[in-house]
Amino acid sequence: MQKNDIVKVVIEDVGVGGEGIGKVNGYTLFIKDAIIGDVVEAKVMKAKKNYGYARLMNILTPSEYRVEKPVCQVARKCGGCQIQEMKYDRQLEFKNQKVRGNLMRIGEVPEQLLDRIMEPIVGMDETEGLGGPYHYRNKAQFPIGIDKDGNIVTGFYAGRTHSIISNTNCALGVEINEQILKLILDFMKEYHISAYDEGKHQGLVRHVLIRYGFTTKEIMVCLVINGGGLPHGEVLAKRLAKIEGMTSVTLSINKEKTNVIMGNVIKPLWGQMYITDYIGNVKYQISPLSFFQVNPVQTEKLYKLALEYSGLNDVSCGNPSDKVVWDLYCGIGTISLFLAQKAGKVYGVEIVPQAIDDARNNAKINEIENAEFFVGKAEEVLPQYYEDYAKEHGGEMAHADVIVVDPPRKGCEETLLQTMVDMQPERIVYVSCDSATLARDVKFLRGNGYELERVRAVDQFPHTVHVETVVLLTKVHK
Ligand code: SAH
Repeated sequence: MQKNDIVKVVIEDVGVGGEGIGKVNGYTLFIKDAIIGDVVEAKVMKAKKNYGYARLMNILTPSEYRVEKPVCQVARKCGGCQIQEMKYDRQLEFKNQKVRGNLMRIGEVPEQLLDRIMEPIVGMDETEGLGGPYHYRNKAQFPIGIDKDGNIVTGFYAGRTHSIISNTNCALGVEINEQILKLILDFMKEYHISAYDEGKHQGLVRHVLIRYGFTTKEIMVCLVINGGGLPHGEVLAKRLAKIEGMTSVTLSINKEKTNVIMGNVIKPLWGQMYITDYIGNVKYQISPLSFFQVNPVQTEKLYKLALEYSGLNDVSCGNPSDKVVWDLYCGIGTISLFLAQKAGKVYGVEIVPQAIDDARNNAKINEIENAEFFVGKAEEVLPQYYEDYAKEHGGEMAHADVIVVDPPRKGCEETLLQTMVDMQPERIVYVSCDSATLARDVKFLRGNGYELERVRAVDQFPHTVHVETVVLLTKVHK
């Protein structure tokens, strides 16, 4: 196979990035946007010895798993979605298989065990949220730039690049985004406010952050600017304030030459500095810099599962108000506060100090008094706590009934897993955004006195290849 060859390929599999995989005379080709079941014509772009990458040129016979017409016109070009052209039930199956495959291959979990315990993936229903598996994101960050004709544009980055694809009505975002973006672009044109040019590190407006509270309907707009202030900012604020639900308009100052979107200094333009929203019955105050789960409908389902797996809702596991729970990688305390409503005591650990400030504040506004938060690395805070406790209590072990972990993609360090095992909680609930590292950590825990008891994937990000998983491991009693 050589570069620029045009070949006919039957797509037989899906890669981890959602790309189609097919073979031509035994040679494997990866083809972005091709869907399992398609017969396509593709052009080889890169040919290695045993495999290559090809560009989809023509769909000769469309797969039965292909949607007739994607909801978004730029679905293929835009880097935001990877599998929007795949029917939603097939997306769910792909994600479920990804989790299952990783647990088997990397985690060495026996297939019979998974057959018995793996529960069906939790997808989004048409009737849920603001449009089922569309319009589910409560947060969007739109880059502002100039197109080749010199017009100010906004939209999304194309996959793996920083060229902006003009689009103000992303199918994953809330509908109000479009009105807000148009208003901002019109304002910029009218008052000759410049857009930021990444290459030259010049120009003022870099990004627009929009957040929407699904429960409260409160809206936040934050303009990220390469400067100390926004000329005629009061005019913009007044126009935005007319939109129903507008609660907070702010500026984020970011004068750095960086890919990081937000700057750390936030200045008020109009209204409050935060919006409020709920997950279940827990209330959260969200400021421009706060981390908050982006799909509130699915997050609630995920946390309900974490609660169910924790056993705190199950009287046969004993009185929940006697239970001690650790929530490692707790962020703004979302899971901690969810569980604190049942447990005796919850300890949260998180590396970002501002997130812990938010967590403590969220505990306060919900009148939750049995949650305590520590700033630091989970792999340092927990082992230290364990060691200090033994010193202070004449060698007695620190006890936990349930340990919940929700680490970033890289998973947990082995020293942390070892301390967790040493503490011998009855249950470990592992929430994961990367099933490959989850599988690696499950392997360690299964080898050290724990057994996998429940597994369930949750689709937090329809049309992307990401998938969340929650698993329960319980202590094996010999
Ligand atoms: N459970 C939270 C957040 C999960 S995201 C929620 O559902 O909202 C993972 C979190 O781990 C992030 O907040 C990140 O800042 C934090 N983190 C990353 N590395 C960490 C470490 N070594 N120790 C503790 N927290 C860490």
